[in-house]
Amino acid sequence: MAELKYKRIVLKISGEGLCATGGDGIDADELRRIGEEIRGVVDLGVELCLVIGGGNIIRGGDLAKRIAIEEVAAHYMGMLATVINAMALQEILESLGIPTRVQSAIAIDRVCEPFVRRRAIRHLEKGRVVIFAAGTGNPFVTTDSCAALRASEIGADVLLKATKVDGVYTADPETDPEAVLHKHIGYDQVIDARLQVMDLSAMVMCQQNRIPVIVFNLKKSGNMRAVAQGEEVGTLVDAG
Ligand code: UDP
Repeated sequence: MAELKYKRIVLKISGEGLCATGGDGIDADELRRIGEEIRGVVDLGVELCLVIGGGNIIRGGDLAKRIAIEEVAAHYMGMLATVINAMALQEILESLGIPTRVQSAIAIDRVCEPFVRRRAIRHLEKGRVVIFAAGTGNPFVTTDSCAALRASEIGADVLLKATKVDGVYTADPETDPEAVLHKHIGYDQVIDARLQVMDLSAMVMCQQNRIPVIVFNLKKSGNMRAVAQGEEVGTLVDAG
């Protein structure tokens, strides 16, 4: 097997990766497609952790604006949504023959393990994909922060952030036709310009712990494997 550029990878997938474009909930075809894309990464022989968002079901901040509940409760609801997505991912991956474990930051012991760092590393060493659910377990942040935190904790070589665009642009590519894709950009540039890559605190944590971040398009088939293999896909964010 060729030398791997990244041996231990944290892959962040937004909840909307599991639903059809413009839809919500979990779409059977999208779930299977993501499962097959992930299988392409697992087949490389890397140690893989997944962090799944919950935005296809609930985003705490949005929900609290729409209905009369305390924002903090809405964030916990968002975290629980990520557990639902993690279970869906686990089921599809196992149906494809990939052994997995779900570890949740909020104890839900009927359906998954609690997050235990050493145990997560042991699973990786045994060739299991570890799916981190319930974000950080704390309200007012997002699963991007969870991805940065877990990547730092388990000593990941890279954090791959799957998005619906090709990477980091000079402006929003969905509204500005002049927007240009950055192939390589520094943490400082992202932080100073407040570029919408991931939560600011998540980016700062990656910088502090020297975790390179690669932003790539989830909707392009084969992209996930290519980026995990170290091909020049999307935008690399590092010390520059
Ligand atoms: N959330 C939280 N703490 C965390 C992670 C997530 O409170 O550590 C809540 C937050 O309300 C967030 C929701 O869970 O909006 C869903 O996560 P996220 O927005 O990251 O999902 P994505 O947009 O990636 O699908």
